[in-house]
Amino acid sequence: MYQFNYKRASSVADASKAVVSASDGVFLAGGMTLLPTLKQRLAKPSDVVDLQELNDLKGVKEEGGSVIIGAMTRHGDVAKNDIVKKRIPALAGLAAHIGDAQVRNRGTIGGSVANNDPAADYPSACLALGATIVTSKREIKADDFFSGMFTTALEPGEMVTAVKFPVPQKAAYEKFPNPASRYAMVGVFVAQSGGATRVAVTGAGQDGVFRHKGLEEALGKSLTKDAAMKVAVSADGLNSDIHASAEYRAHLIKVMAGRAAEKAAKG
Ligand SMILES: Cc1cc2nc3c(=O)[nH]c(=O)nc-3n(C[C@H](O)[C@H](O)[C@H](O)COP(=O)(O)OP(=O)(O)OC[C@H]3O[C@@H](n4cnc5c(N)ncnc54)[C@H](O)[C@@H]3O)c2cc1C
Repeated sequence: MYQFNYKRASSVADASKAVVSASDGVFLAGGMTLLPTLKQRLAKPSDVVDLQELNDLKGVKEEGGSVIIGAMTRHGDVAKNDIVKKRIPALAGLAAHIGDAQVRNRGTIGGSVANNDPAADYPSACLALGATIVTSKREIKADDFFSGMFTTALEPGEMVTAVKFPVPQKAAYEKFPNPASRYAMVGVFVAQSGGATRVAVTGAGQDGVFRHKGLEEALGKSLTKDAAMKVAVSADGLNSDIHASAEYRAHLIKVMAGRAAEKAAKG
C-alpha cells in the first residue's frame, strides 16, 4: 500500500469538496473493492475520503412508487430490509447472493454502482428496473449512467447518494456465479412494468452491463423459458476468459434469462 491522506467526511458536501480539492482523491465506502486495490498497489490516490459516518446515506424508504436505497446501505441490509423484500423481492434476493457474508456486511450499493464492475449484480437491477442514480449533483437514469467497463457518468468529486428503483409489476434475477468469488459469470435481471419488458445482462459483456433487445422483445410476448431459449444470442462482444468462453456465456445468457422469466411469471 502506498501512503495517502485519510479523511473521515462529516457531510456529502464535505466529502465532495475533499475529493475535488485533492490532487487524486477517492471516496471510501465499504472498501471491499478499493482496499484490495490499494493493498495490491494498483492505485495510488493522494487522499482517501471515508463516507462511513454519513448516516443520512444509510437505509431504505418508499416514496412515490419507488424504493429508494441510500448509497451507504450495505448489501446485507438491503437483503434483510422489509420494504425491499415486500416491494422488490428480486432485489432483496440479488443482494442476498452478493459475494459472501463478509462482503455483504461491508460492501455498499453506492460503491457497487459507482465501481461498475462488469460482473457486479446491482448494475443489472438498475438497468432492468429503470432505476435512477441520485448523486450529489443531479439525477441520472441508469440507461445513461453505466458507460463501459468500470466506467460511469460520474464526474470527478460527484458522489452517488442513493438509488431510486421504481416498483415493478414482475421481476426476477438469476445468476450463474463464479464458484470462488460469487461474482456473476452471467447474471440476467428481467423486469416488467406498464407493458414494457426490460432485460439486463451482467458478467458477460466486454463493455460491462447491457440490455438485450432480442430477449426483451421475446419475453415481452411470452414470459417463458421457451421464449428465451429461441432468441439468438451472439457471442460477439462477450468476455472470454479462464472461467468461460464467449460462446458458453452466450448460452448462459439464454438459460439465465429463461430461469428469470419463469420466476418473474410466477410473481
Ligand atoms: C471476495 C469478493 C466477492 C465479491 N462478490 C461480489 C458479487 O458476487 N457480486 C457483486 O456485485 N459484487 C461482489 N463484490 C464486490 C462488492 O459488492 C463491493 O462491495 C463493491 O464492488 C464495492 O462496494 P464498496 O462499498 O465496498 O466500495 P469501495 O470498495 O469502498 O469503493 C469502490 C469504488 O467506488 C467508489 N465509491 C464508493 N462509494 C461511492 C459513492 N457513494 N459515490 C461515488 N463513488 C463511490 C470508490 O471511490 C471506489 O472507486 C465482491 C467483492 C469481494 C472482495
